[in-house]
Amino acid sequence: MVTAVMPTYGRKDVVFERGEGNYLYATDGRRFLDFTSGIAVNALGHCHPALIKALAEQGSKLWHTSNLYRIGNGEKLAKRLAELTFADTMFFCNSGAEAIEGGIKVIRKYQYVNGQPQRYKLICFQAAFHGRLLNALAATGNEKYLEGFGPPAPGYKHAPLNNANVVRDMIDDETAGILVEPIQGEGGIRETTPEFLKALRAMCDEYGLLLFYDEIHTGFGRTGKLFAYQWSGVAPDVMAVAKGMGGGFPIGAFMATEKAAAGMVPGTHGSTYGGNPLATGVANAVLDELLKPGFIEGVHERGEYLKGQLQALVKRHPKVYAEARGTGFLQGVRCVVPAGEMVDRLISLGMLVPIAGENVIRIFPALIADKTVLDEGVGMLEKAALSFEAAQGASKAAE
Ligand SMILES: *Cc1c(COP(=O)(O)O)cnc(C)c1O
Repeated sequence: MVTAVMPTYGRKDVVFERGEGNYLYATDGRRFLDFTSGIAVNALGHCHPALIKALAEQGSKLWHTSNLYRIGNGEKLAKRLAELTFADTMFFCNSGAEAIEGGIKVIRKYQYVNGQPQRYKLICFQAAFHGRLLNALAATGNEKYLEGFGPPAPGYKHAPLNNANVVRDMIDDETAGILVEPIQGEGGIRETTPEFLKALRAMCDEYGLLLFYDEIHTGFGRTGKLFAYQWSGVAPDVMAVAKGMGGGFPIGAFMATEKAAAGMVPGTHGSTYGGNPLATGVANAVLDELLKPGFIEGVHERGEYLKGQLQALVKRHPKVYAEARGTGFLQGVRCVVPAGEMVDRLISLGMLVPIAGENVIRIFPALIADKTVLDEGVGMLEKAALSFEAAQGASKAAE
């Protein structure tokens, strides 16, 4: 018989009942070091006092009113994010995939109001991930995810990452924009080069296209800058964000320059829940914490430390780990042994990490993790490697 929760995930057999900072506690009493962070969502760890306070205060005043009326918390959040980024304007939604789909609409409408309605297609990248709604999925382009859901939504082509010449060759009269993750997450922590982003920016300017960044997992401090594009200094025209934005409260946004959003006039988009007082109240509190002096610099500094520790770990265990890569608290360790088996071994040791493409395990500590916590995580990765090596040794001996 089917489970009451539709079985679209292969879930690990653990139920958590409580979270505190970097740790999760399961109903069976087990305690876990959480380097999944809800897949880069719990930016401030679990049950951060400032977020509890914001949620409780707003929750006792007003939750939801609809977008038929002005929303003070949302206006405040939008003004702050506009000041901190390339964007002049933004629309709040409830998830990453929705932010992607909204960004696609902005780009298509931009071309339309500029007399280029035939330009509706996006150039995307191999191994991208943009979400599971039908257009976001077509932009993702993963055949396994697309299978069985009818013809993929039209208008998405995929180029290899970091190869500007191939992208240039793909541009035609129907191209509207280019959609890229500054660092691919699900794809296996694959980083774009600043030169590549510069080349994409130049092509967009040359051909009248819009540059669209998916910063859904890289945004809100994860890479040691508020947004990952700020490392390269190459600004987009449109950007999708979500995940860390609400610290666990569902909220996303698509952000744009005034020019790019020229067509988004009243009636062109909507969302019942999008940016309600509760969601934007919590997101403002997340931003308050991220903007405290030294907070994001601290993520950068400890991210460098973490990367160094992971690189040393890889060197010590070349039969288990192949490579450490990433920026800030967005790290990945490519495994020699099956990454899925590594995840299971880490769970039995009391540590949670998610998997990604290219046989990578993702290392996503909460942004509050200090060096002691990072060391604890690297220690568990070491223990897991030793247990693999012991098993490898045993199977050698048995040969
Ligand atoms: C998680 C993610 C998405 C999808 O977000 P949802 O909230 O699951 O819809 C899109 N793009 C990237 C880069 C992501 O990491």
